[in-house]
Amino acid sequence: MKKILIFNWKMNPPSLAEAKRLLTNNLQPTTNNKNVEIIICPPFIYLSELSPLVNRKSLIKLGAQNCFWEKVGAYTGEISPIMLKNSGVEYVIIGHSERRKYLNETDQMINKKVLAALKAGLKVVLCIGENLSIRKRGKKAVENFIKSQLKKNLNSLSKVKGQKSKVVVAYEPIWAIGSKHPDTPEDALEMIKYIKQLLITHYSLLNTKVLYGGSVDSKNIENFLKYKEIDGVLVGSSSVKIKEVKEIINLAINK
Ligand code: PEP
Repeated sequence: MKKILIFNWKMNPPSLAEAKRLLTNNLQPTTNNKNVEIIICPPFIYLSELSPLVNRKSLIKLGAQNCFWEKVGAYTGEISPIMLKNSGVEYVIIGHSERRKYLNETDQMINKKVLAALKAGLKVVLCIGENLSIRKRGKKAVENFIKSQLKKNLNSLSKVKGQKSKVVVAYEPIWAIGSKHPDTPEDALEMIKYIKQLLITHYSLLNTKVLYGGSVDSKNIENFLKYKEIDGVLVGSSSVKIKEVKEIINLAINK
């Protein structure tokens, strides 16, 4: 099965020239490969500039890191899903824990964004995951949290016609993000199986891809990708290190 690799550049790099260099390096190893789908998520400001560089026939797709829920209007500083769509963007990350933490994004806001992005024809990468205090309470507590988070974030999904298949879920335990301490592949696998079961039972999402994210790098990626239920990874910090990206892509291609 084709694995999905999502590279979230976060608020990097500081110039367009560097963004172009980073993208060009990402493009190289993938030219003819069908084992992986690669989604690069640069900051908004670079998307229109990078879009023409992405060869539509290559396996590289562009993603945004966020969007607003309205189409147009008096929403200073916001970017709408339709603007992204019209800029050659195919995916959008919604509900990243850094936005939940630093921008106070609530589950209700995230739900509005998910629905608006799907209606605009974007594919959604919904990020969910528990914090450390929940994790310390044990597996049942994590499952309850994830179930409730999914319920709030995917509320009314069934009303979006024909778009349900465009949801990808990234299980990203918050304590593992940017910490250099990834979840164990076995625990991530358990949670991903649980999420898939919830998606089937409650949302009739039979083939939704569920990825792992949190301190993935070239040293540990194979431990996650070896499980068929883990459909790919979301990579943050390592995604702006050219050598790391090449290595990660090559390992995924040759897994
Ligand atoms: C992320 O940004 O979602 C992420 C997983 O970051 P990192 O790989 O740095 O943990």
